[in-house]
Amino acid sequence: MYLVATLSVKDLRVQYRLKDKVVRAVDGISFSLENNESVGIVGESGCGKSTLGLAIIRSIPGGKIESGEILLDREPLQTIPEDEFSKEVRWKKISMVFQGAMNSLDPVFSIKQQFEEILKEHKRVGDSVELIRRSIESVGLPLSVLDKFPHELSGGMKQRVVIAMALLLNPRLVIADEPTTALDVLVQAQIISLLKKLKKEGMSFMLISHDLGIISEISDKVGIMYAGKIVEFGTLQEVYSSPQHPYTRALLKSTPKVREESNLISLKGNPPNLASPPLGCRFYDRCPQAMEKCTEDPPISKTKTGYVSCWLYEQEK
Ligand code: SF4
Repeated sequence: MYLVATLSVKDLRVQYRLKDKVVRAVDGISFSLENNESVGIVGESGCGKSTLGLAIIRSIPGGKIESGEILLDREPLQTIPEDEFSKEVRWKKISMVFQGAMNSLDPVFSIKQQFEEILKEHKRVGDSVELIRRSIESVGLPLSVLDKFPHELSGGMKQRVVIAMALLLNPRLVIADEPTTALDVLVQAQIISLLKKLKKEGMSFMLISHDLGIISEISDKVGIMYAGKIVEFGTLQEVYSSPQHPYTRALLKSTPKVREESNLISLKGNPPNLASPPLGCRFYDRCPQAMEKCTEDPPISKTKTGYVSCWLYEQEK
């Protein structure tokens, strides 16, 4: 069993500085999770979803948190000095399966040596045998994998190894960024069923993906991200069955469904450049329901289980 996590993100802004420009990849994002809920963050490439995950684990190469709050179990993480954050929070309370992490396993060290390295950094060498055994077994791998080198493992086994590494110090929350990308369909299904098993055992996940189908497998709540903002947030059931934001509707209509015939549509155009985002709604250029007032920032309106950021709902008040 894992410890229960409560995560709250409030008005978070993250920026990258590129030469003379500031790119705000995460721009005023808020959401919260309770008990051991899991959240799926979905959106197109470059919408800022990976940056959001990296900001929560405070590991943003070339970027920095500009403002906002991140609370884990009501404890503000922002005020924790870097030294303490690295010893007491990163990997211990929140860990991350980075995008493409299975390809970054060190080819010259055995899997066991790579686990031991993490434990050495966190001064947990004393109980390394038990911690490594527990995390390897929790992802359904045989202990014999520890003596292997990365090139001796299949893609699916490597991905299980990086998930086991994320579980090593028994964190409350695991952020998994595109954990099934680059795997074949069968292995994808195995990884999803592993994540579901871990969730059932009490682990909280923040799953980042462009794939609505994968998000729907293990998320209780969903945040739809577009150009640095969450445009709709709510329970999986509500967002998928009754999408409010035109972007959410377009995303759902562009995703094939296994059990029913559907007329797929493709979403034309591209998201705006975050170095110079347009004023007002960032979906304006692609939105079939755009109106004149959409050139102003859309209001945030409550939905049954979350919120939506769109002028259509302000009109209905
Ligand atoms: Fe479309 Fe306007 Fe809503 Fe933006 S605010 S999604 S442009 S209707």
